Amino acid sequence: MKKILITGAAGFLGSHLCDKFIKEGFHVIGMDNLITGDLKNIDHLFGLEQFEFHHHDVSKFVHVSGKLDYILHFASPASPIDYLKIPIQTLKVGSLGTHNLLGLAKDKGARLLIASTSEVYGDPLVHPQTEEYYGNVNPIGPRGVYDEAKRFQEAITMAYHTYHNVDTRIVRIFNTYGPRMRLNDGRVIPAFIGQALRGEDLTVFGDGSQTRSFCYVDDQVDGIYRLLMSDYNLPVNIGNPNEITIADFAEEIIKLTGTDQKVIYKDLPVDDPMQRQPNITKAREILGWEPKVDRAEGLKITYEYFKSLPEETLYQQEHKSFEKYMK
Ligand code: UDP
Repeated sequence: MKKILITGAAGFLGSHLCDKFIKEGFHVIGMDNLITGDLKNIDHLFGLEQFEFHHHDVSKFVHVSGKLDYILHFASPASPIDYLKIPIQTLKVGSLGTHNLLGLAKDKGARLLIASTSEVYGDPLVHPQTEEYYGNVNPIGPRGVYDEAKRFQEAITMAYHTYHNVDTRIVRIFNTYGPRMRLNDGRVIPAFIGQALRGEDLTVFGDGSQTRSFCYVDDQVDGIYRLLMSDYNLPVNIGNPNEITIADFAEEIIKLTGTDQKVIYKDLPVDDPMQRQPNITKAREILGWEPKVDRAEGLKITYEYFKSLPEETLYQQEHKSFEKYMK
């Protein structure tokens, strides 16, 4: 049985990846320090012989006994509000954490896939973003702790690949959504759905003309799986190219949820990228991958998930200090 270590296992993407690799017949070691992850996301896996969980912070030395075939490094805060709240941990997990996992991969002869991000393109001046674009990142802005950690992560991963022959993969993940996102992490989809469920107005930041392209989690997981199993070492964008303005997106959520609330406008956060759309030619050609779930379908599933949560979850505000993040 192949053995895989998944860091960030109790998080949104990490938990879906645990499910996928269990289903594919792997022995899965889930690792998480539970700062932003939640054991509820993997509760259903604890009874399985195929699954074990290690409560550990990957910024510290990582030990796994016995053989290891694959590592997926998905531990990281991943919402702009989290970067503000825990900036140092965000920097450490992308840098020190990646270094530790590269060392582990080298020692075990394991293949390592790291979760990079469309944030490496910053506020992009090239549209749609291809993997060849170097990006437009502000290193000292509020997103710098995430963006630069992820850029460093790519650099050290390529260095280990080139100089130590470690077998590596780099996925650049564009906005992804689905069940198990944190309702109150400040990201736009849980934010809008949460507001609709609480009967509050939907808060659009700026004039809402900024764009995003949202990928359903099952598509994202399929893309990551294919990349891991491929022999391609350079970065690959995985995301859904279907782009929409945030203002139009708010209207979609109003229709989906049937809320009678309206849209209100708030200040645009510092360094909020104005447009984002993946060019997925590489994923199509190299991995034979493309997204299959359209937004209407994916949002419906996501809405049903949020609706099914205990009501008090709706009112657990994790972050209240949006103001600090504003211009
Ligand atoms: N956004 C918004 N209202 C909210 C939360 C987010 O208008 O309540 C906007 C945000 O400014 C950004 C977009 O939605 O332009 C996506 O934000 P998110 O935090 O989900 O992800 P990211 O900016 O990292 O793509």
